[in-house]
Amino acid sequence: MTKKKLCAQPPIEIEGIKIGKPKVVAAGVPAIKQSLKHALKEMNAARCTKTLFAVNQMSGFDCPGCAWPDPDDHRSSIGEYCENGVKAIAEEATTKRIRADFFKKYSVETLSQQSDFWLGKQGRLTEPMILKKGQHHYEPIAWDKAFQLIGDTLNKLDSPDEASFYTSGRTSNEAAFLYQLYVREFGTNNLPDCSNMCHESSGVALSETVGIGKGSVRLEDFYITDLVIVVGQNPGTNHPRMLSALQKSKKAGAKIISVNPLPETGLIRFKNPQNVGGYIGSGTKLTDLFLQVTVNGDVPLFKAMMCLLLEEEDKHPGKIFDQEFINNNTSGYEELIADLRQANLSELITASGVREKEIRKSVQMILKAKKIIICWAMGLTQHENGVQNIREVVNLLLLKGSIGKPGAGTCPVRGHSNVQGDRTVGIVDKPKPALLDKIKEVCGFEPPRHHGYDVVESIKAMHNGKNKVFIAMGGNFLSASPDTEYTATALQKTKLSVHISTKLNRSHLIHGEQALILPCLGRTELDTQKSGDQFVTVENSMGVVHQSNGKLKPAATTLLSEPAIVAGMAKATLGAQSKIDWDHYIQNYDHIRDLIEKVIPGFTDYNKRVRNPGGFYLPNCARDGDFKTSTGKANFTINPVPVNDLAVDDFIMMTIRSHDQFNTTIYGLDDRYRGITGGRRVIFMNKEDMTSLGLKAKSVVDLINRDDGIERIAPKFVVVPFSIPPRCVATYFPEANVLVPISKVAKRSNTPASKRIRIKILPTQ
Ligand code: SF4
Repeated sequence: MTKKKLCAQPPIEIEGIKIGKPKVVAAGVPAIKQSLKHALKEMNAARCTKTLFAVNQMSGFDCPGCAWPDPDDHRSSIGEYCENGVKAIAEEATTKRIRADFFKKYSVETLSQQSDFWLGKQGRLTEPMILKKGQHHYEPIAWDKAFQLIGDTLNKLDSPDEASFYTSGRTSNEAAFLYQLYVREFGTNNLPDCSNMCHESSGVALSETVGIGKGSVRLEDFYITDLVIVVGQNPGTNHPRMLSALQKSKKAGAKIISVNPLPETGLIRFKNPQNVGGYIGSGTKLTDLFLQVTVNGDVPLFKAMMCLLLEEEDKHPGKIFDQEFINNNTSGYEELIADLRQANLSELITASGVREKEIRKSVQMILKAKKIIICWAMGLTQHENGVQNIREVVNLLLLKGSIGKPGAGTCPVRGHSNVQGDRTVGIVDKPKPALLDKIKEVCGFEPPRHHGYDVVESIKAMHNGKNKVFIAMGGNFLSASPDTEYTATALQKTKLSVHISTKLNRSHLIHGEQALILPCLGRTELDTQKSGDQFVTVENSMGVVHQSNGKLKPAATTLLSEPAIVAGMAKATLGAQSKIDWDHYIQNYDHIRDLIEKVIPGFTDYNKRVRNPGGFYLPNCARDGDFKTSTGKANFTINPVPVNDLAVDDFIMMTIRSHDQFNTTIYGLDDRYRGITGGRRVIFMNKEDMTSLGLKAKSVVDLINRDDGIERIAPKFVVVPFSIPPRCVATYFPEANVLVPISKVAKRSNTPASKRIRIKILPTQ
């Protein structure tokens, strides 16, 4: 509980939880049924058909879910989407509406006692609302007055650095580019974004090792590769159409190794709803070898693999490692080999949690493969040693010469539809001088040169009073962030909190002295400006920039587009002195794209090329084998094995998503693949650990973290026996975020270490 009796955490609801058997096959008919069930709950059949026929089509709109790419060539005209894509679209295309009378009825205190699921199900926000100082109910405010309040509050700050401007991965390239111009012309680089909480570790590690902070593969590489290794990722829930690509890899003869603490259904067996096999038969077996690594056992596992490969290389010199590639393209090989030679193999194997026999099997598969793709997600990035985890991935690929050629390379899979694009067009808190120089040259103002705050730094700055205004372009900042109560206190210390949103969420309720909700158009909706209907553009996980054309009538005539909201804030803040003609850019988004082309490399002929069906690929030096690093080569690195700091009664907790969830949006209370229905407050535990603690299935326990001398408690979680390594447990976020200390972050990337939190488990009294 926080001041004003606002609840920063979801209510405790455990009565309805049922534990069933995990499923052995993903998608298929149940996925179709679930998709229809969710879609028809939110809209009628005609609207449903119109919406689903347009999603991910060349002339349609981009799914607002994850960033998995669409095929470059043929797309199914009836179903280029997955179950979770349908859920995301149904949430946005819903016909339910929240109007002013809703806020009159419910105070922020009452709303904060509701679950995230309930809040999300109330419908689309329709008009700008203000929560005035000391008031309990939001009330309507005119757009111009809302913009003026933002401008006046920002202009009264002692320094522009007293405000933070967050971006979520839904924001289009056009809105994101204008937003960072506005923020930089105002005078700060405080541009935290959701990337800070997910793939920042990937960006740091890949930039220094292969010269670009993005993945190097395209979808077509999956169809010609020899081996795909999927590490710390659950594509069946988080990037479901990736399963179709893996199925195609298998059909073309590739092998798949999956590395994860949990055996996730999506990676075991898949029935593709887009073809006959999705309805009959037992589906495609995807994983050939499952390595059930202990939480954060990835560095020792990769080191053990490389030690065993080195043994083979010693027996057959030049036959296992790609010596030609290594000699011509890499730096640091000798140092890596020296490090591997002094490593203790049996200690590495023990630390990985995987049996030696299994690791040896994986090594046999790796040594036979000439082309390897390694995919990963938060299971690697959200650790204190997240950057090192990814550097180990790169080491393995470099030894095998598996980057910079077709069918091979790095594949960090992005979680939100335009999280990669937002970065590309300038949403970055630590900008490179080249970006700032270009902004100055093209836009005619001097952008600030000092670095800004990322997510964790912004929260700390709000908490210690240095940051007084928080503006969020999309997202649910409170629920996405670590250390829920700390973050809630931080937000409540601000003078003004502003959320640009389509739906109601908890971040609107844990507010600053004053708060604004600014409702915007969604991806599915028509965006009409002075020059006519507009489209926006986004970049997927594989660097393809393409159009997104909304088709539906907007949820209300009072909504503005995200670019128009940015322009409104900018005009009210910067006034006549602004060097940017904001109205000109809003009239026609081609004008924004022309400006992006002048400032951001790789966007030559932007307006022309993005009108080609499917869009265009951005340049990718690592894919071309041109490693733009400090050494001019791809760099091997040495990464220490993480120290095991567990006390005898400590467990390692990782936070995960349920299948009825996308990031912080809760679509339902089930986690079908893992066999859970009716609730989210569960803890997945190893059966032997349960026995040693005297727990049974459905026992209720409290979870406690005591890092930094602070006791953080998440009470009442229902125990679920599950296949998970000893001393490891898994819980859903945002429920367990309260246990993630703000100080537990990945070194150098500052990403919250949400995948390895030390906790104690006590039976609820
Ligand atoms: S895979 Fe991702 S982008 Fe594709 S439909 Fe599913 S949620 Fe949307």
